[in-house]
Amino acid sequence: MHTTQVNRSDFDRVMVPNYAPVDMIPVRGAGSRLWDQDGHEYIDLAGGIAVNALGHAHPGLIEALTDQAGKLWHLSNVLTNEPALRLASKLIEATFADKVFFANSGAEANEAAFKLARRWAHDTAGPQKHEIIACTNSFHGRTLFTVSVGGQAKYSQGFGPALEGITHVAYNDIEALRKVISARTCAVVVEPVQGEGGVIPASDEYLRAVRQLCDENQALLVFDEVQSGMGRTGKLFAYMHSGVQPDILTSAKSLGGGFPISAMLTTDRIAGHFGVGTHGSTYGGNPLGCAVAERVLDIVNTPEVLQGIEHRHQLLAAGLMEISADIPVFASVRGRGLLIGAVLAEAWVGQARQIQEAAQRQGLLVLQAGPDVVRLAPSLIIPEADITEGLARLRNALGELVG
Ligand SMILES: *Cc1c(COP(=O)(O)O)cnc(C)c1O
Repeated sequence: MHTTQVNRSDFDRVMVPNYAPVDMIPVRGAGSRLWDQDGHEYIDLAGGIAVNALGHAHPGLIEALTDQAGKLWHLSNVLTNEPALRLASKLIEATFADKVFFANSGAEANEAAFKLARRWAHDTAGPQKHEIIACTNSFHGRTLFTVSVGGQAKYSQGFGPALEGITHVAYNDIEALRKVISARTCAVVVEPVQGEGGVIPASDEYLRAVRQLCDENQALLVFDEVQSGMGRTGKLFAYMHSGVQPDILTSAKSLGGGFPISAMLTTDRIAGHFGVGTHGSTYGGNPLGCAVAERVLDIVNTPEVLQGIEHRHQLLAAGLMEISADIPVFASVRGRGLLIGAVLAEAWVGQARQIQEAAQRQGLLVLQAGPDVVRLAPSLIIPEADITEGLARLRNALGELVG
């Protein structure tokens, strides 16, 4: 069956070169540990970029996947299915939402959100109400609409002509939003914690004020919780810390625990503006993905898992600052729950990638969020022993870099 030997050098030969993976290939995982082709072991504090919410090869997810795999994988949306209806019901039960649309990636969930906002505004106020306001440095995915709404020009440059009616304002700056929001605004899009942009939480006051400005201007508030949702920050969704409810929320990444699935959640008032035929997805809401995500939600949305997240945050944050007391690499640690950004000190600015590579040589996987922030997004149930060992390996990696 798997007779062809492959290795990292094949990547450059056969793959479109839009990624630069490290020079080992993992072949197996269990919990928060991974093993590569040569049998080297790694502590995984990257979590597949905030996706592997329950680590690797979680027995409950294997059970949900294999049970469903023996029954039905795919039907198309010409038919509905039991796992999708159960998952939607549980998401509604757990959140502000009344209705759910399923897709397969964060970008697709956001694409649906932005299209729904425009359709709602078109129906209720007319085509002039089409402006979308988003934040500088935000990230919403890689489709043309989502890179355009995203606030990092490097991701949309060279793919023109640009989409019209999108404005960017500084994050956490309510006066900047107040200046541009108007009756022509159909939606304001915010990540409650900016992930790719550097792991920056929005303040509760900011989110409350954004909600108020949206209400005053009859604009929808869209929370992109693709990275911050599904327990990542210690509550099921990050908006629950502030109590500010959005009109539309998107979830992906941890939602499937590693299986590609995403969801757009909204209210009855708005959902009806997507009628039959206005939007869709071949794979969206397939029984296999929904069965896995249902199990992720059953496990994550429990006091046992959610209450353990803050403690793990404290262990990691304290450990990072302890390392930094000896090797002054971090200026500060920010983020919420198990979405943590260690901000590099002046002398280390621009070196997040070098730290990531040194960590890998020491048997540790971490992420970066831009060149100046080391990002951690481990399993929500990572054992304390793996946190301790991971921090020790990070100390070794930094020791290697200072020589
Ligand atoms: C990762 C991410 C996306 C894009 O998700 P994909 O599954 O890669 O399409 C969108 N928004 C946020 C906040 C993200 O972190």
